[in-house]
Amino acid sequence: MQLRYYYRLYPAPGQRAALARAFGCARTVFNDALRAREEARVAGLPYLTDAELSARLTAAKASAERAWLGEVSAMVLQRALADLSAAYRNFFASLTGTRKGPKVGPPRFRTRKDSKQAIRFTANARFRVTAGGKLRLPKIGDVPVRWSRQLPSVPSSVTVVKDPAGRYLASFVVQVGPNALAETEPVIGIDLGLTHFAVLSDGRKIASPRFLRRAEEKLRRRQHDLSRKQDGSKNRDKARIKVARAHALVADARREFHHQLPPTLIRENQAVAVEDQAVSGLARTGLAKSVHDAGWSAFVHMLEYKARRYGRGFYRIGRFEPTSRVCSACRADDGPKPLHVRIWQCQGCGAWLDRDINAAVNVARAAGLAVTACGAQVRPGVLPAQRGEAGTHPTSRPAAA
Ligand SMILES: [Zn+2]
Repeated sequence: MQLRYYYRLYPAPGQRAALARAFGCARTVFNDALRAREEARVAGLPYLTDAELSARLTAAKASAERAWLGEVSAMVLQRALADLSAAYRNFFASLTGTRKGPKVGPPRFRTRKDSKQAIRFTANARFRVTAGGKLRLPKIGDVPVRWSRQLPSVPSSVTVVKDPAGRYLASFVVQVGPNALAETEPVIGIDLGLTHFAVLSDGRKIASPRFLRRAEEKLRRRQHDLSRKQDGSKNRDKARIKVARAHALVADARREFHHQLPPTLIRENQAVAVEDQAVSGLARTGLAKSVHDAGWSAFVHMLEYKARRYGRGFYRIGRFEPTSRVCSACRADDGPKPLHVRIWQCQGCGAWLDRDINAAVNVARAAGLAVTACGAQVRPGVLPAQRGEAGTHPTSRPAAA
């Protein structure tokens, strides 16, 4: 199993200039090759092979017009060609319907204005981590790294990315054993729901802590009391004050909870993805709506703040993504499911799926994060009874630690 590990890079000004040159060269090589294939296609000529593109690259480097390509590692340019060929393979597989995963269109030209600039080094490009803990990149130099977590083994490749915020990231590909997966998964999707406060794509379900549930129950009772008091009566005024106090207690308890969970999630993961607004219109009624919505938006806001603060990836995906109806194992769209269906069997591949965890995996995928679907699958032998929306679950774990 291959996993990606992300770290922040802090290149010096000269290294930033060298990286900008490398991004530009990789882009040029990619675009030249794409143009050559496209021109061959328009002219009715056969598809240019990888070997032909490689030969054209060698010729270009010898020409006056493209001599500056020699300033960057030859491996970076070869990887740019390999990326183009991979993009073509994915496109052709989409056309013939043999592609696993979402369909993709034909490769498009890269520009300086793309949100992400990237170059890739494989092991034979002789990148390495120096004794001093810097990342040595050919023709770039020894780049300082913030090692936020340990690499479990020697990486097979590294991609250097400049993101839209101007930050530099190193993404290492590391081979790990299947058992290491649960501990080392560096990214996570979060589904915010009614049965649990949050469900994570690795299979964890996080209930609201007891102190928050108690405060919310009290608020609900006080609001019920208030609704039974007569308009304009003294008792109604008293009840209204009690509701206001209960509201304040809920707000305090929620703030405390929201200060506990996001730092933990950000510490454990390199990137988090969360659905913008989690619950379908059906479940959004009365008090449940106001209490939960306020809690979620505060939680998401805090999560985003912490992610930015510590240089982690934060992704918010729109509600239009059909996260609760698409199978995370085979991506078949099984149609809408009523809220009481907590576990369902995919008609496409036969996998049994936990509704909430499946949604969390899909949230992560929609954000472009590579997570496995393992956590979402349940064995039909342990199929629990369906339970009400207010019920608890045997795997519930309070987040408070
Ligand atoms: Zn399926």
